Order: sequence, then structure tokens, then C-alpha cells
Amino acid sequence: MPELPEVETIARGLASQVRDDVIESVWLGSKPEPLKSPASQIVATLESSRIVDVRRVGKHIVFDLDRVARTPPSAKSFRHARSEKPRRNRHAQQNSQWIVHLGMTGRLLLCDPSAELAKHTHAILTLDSGRELRFVDPRRFGRLSVASGFEAAGAEPLEVELEMFVNVFRARKTPVKSALLNQSLLSGVGNIYADESLFRAGLLPRRRAASLTREDLRRLFLSLKEVLKEAIAAGGSSVSDYVDASGEAGFFQLQHRVYGREGEPCLVCKSPIKRIVIAGRSSHYCATCQR
Ligand SMILES: [Zn+2]
Repeated sequence: MPELPEVETIARGLASQVRDDVIESVWLGSKPEPLKSPASQIVATLESSRIVDVRRVGKHIVFDLDRVARTPPSAKSFRHARSEKPRRNRHAQQNSQWIVHLGMTGRLLLCDPSAELAKHTHAILTLDSGRELRFVDPRRFGRLSVASGFEAAGAEPLEVELEMFVNVFRARKTPVKSALLNQSLLSGVGNIYADESLFRAGLLPRRRAASLTREDLRRLFLSLKEVLKEAIAAGGSSVSDYVDASGEAGFFQLQHRVYGREGEPCLVCKSPIKRIVIAGRSSHYCATCQR
């Protein structure tokens, strides 16, 4: 499942490619699962909207939209159609957003309309630039919706301040690993980056969050931001079939110190990396380096 660094990489890639493009038409498939808003509402919101920006909020990709009104065809014949800039329609709803959650296997592909249609394509946006933006998701855990003023439930890990971080974690009696994964506390941290930041902070994943000292939490706070920033710089982690918006793999998996390394020697002390299950999720750690 793509986590914060992967979604950030995808959103940045898309923003550089589709910012200021206009969505001309929308096709939605017949499978109900990917649609979190009614199909008619998604189509009405997206069609004739300019993509103002694409950004990450938690693990969601948010397309900020601005309604545009096209010049009527009758008026177009007096001028060159391609030189027409879509006008802003002051009466249409402003500040709508298209929200994409990639789930386990969701992908957004920007391609030429002649490109072969992938199996499990659930949405196709035809853009004014002549390209198509397609949503493909074999396992159908991804979700498409429309909103205005969308916000993630939890705090943004790259922006949260130390005081808030400490207060949130000290109030939790759950294992610190579970608290890191709790999307209503922090948005976008998943299994890989929770394990990696706990290793760097020297904390065992099953420690109760409320039992951690302020100094423990300060180390975790710094480790989490460091790991996320390094992963974003590396283009995310390519585990399973993750690729970014232009089909490029990420490289942060080469820097994983514990995640996916069960039985391999710890890079610091050579003890074998262990794996336990906490709240149904695998946790990888070094029993010597983490306390
Ligand atoms: Zn170790």
C-alpha cells in the first residue's frame, strides 16, 4: 500500500504534468466499489473544471479544481478554437476537489488516448491537452470522491510540532506502533515508515505509547520526519507494484533498515531482525538496538 512518501511522489509528479489542464469529460466504470461519491456527482464536479493543483493530504491525492465555462460553439466559429482560453464561471461552485485514495493497488496513469486500456480501469478523464488520466485498480480498495475543503483526520507528520506530537502519544495506552499507524492521530504513516522510524529512535514497537519519556518521543518525532523526508527524496519505496505517476519505481526500499529484513543481520549490531504481529500488522525490529 502506498504510504505518505509514495503518495507525495505521485502527487508532485502529477502536479507538474496536469496543473492548469482542463478536464473535458469523464468516463466511470460500472464497478461500484471505487466510487465513494455518487457517479453523477463526480462527473458533474470534474467535467469542465481546471486542475489548479495536485497535492497530498495524508495518504490522499487531492486535485484542487476550479470551474470553467467553455465558449459556446457558435461563438467559437468566429475565432480559432484552440486559442480560446476557458473562462471562469462565477456562478459555478468554486473550490471543489477530486480526492483519490489509491488503496492497495490503485494507480493514476497519464497517457495518450491511443494507449492500450489496462484491465481494471475504473475512470478515464479526458483532458483539454489531449491526454487521458486513467484510474486503474485491480483489487478495488482505492476510492474516488469529490469534496470541498477536504482535510485529513490526523495531523500532518511533516508539519506537526513537537509539543503536539508528545501530547498525542502520551495520551495513548496502545503500543507505540499502533499509535503511529492510527490515521486519526497522524495522517499517512504506514507500516514501513513506522517500523523504520521506531528503529532509528531505538524504541520497541510494542512499548506503550503512554510509557515513553519526553526524550523517547522527541527521538521518535525527529526519526519519523527524517525517514519520511529521505523516502520522499528517494521517490518512495517500491514494494509490490508501486510506481509513480510516470511509471518510475522508487528507491527507498534499498535504505530500509528493518522493514522486510526478518532474519537478516541488523545493520548496527548484527543481531537478526525480528518480526512480530501487532494489531494485525507485521512489525520488524532489532531486539538489541530497540528498547
Ligand atoms: Zn541492532
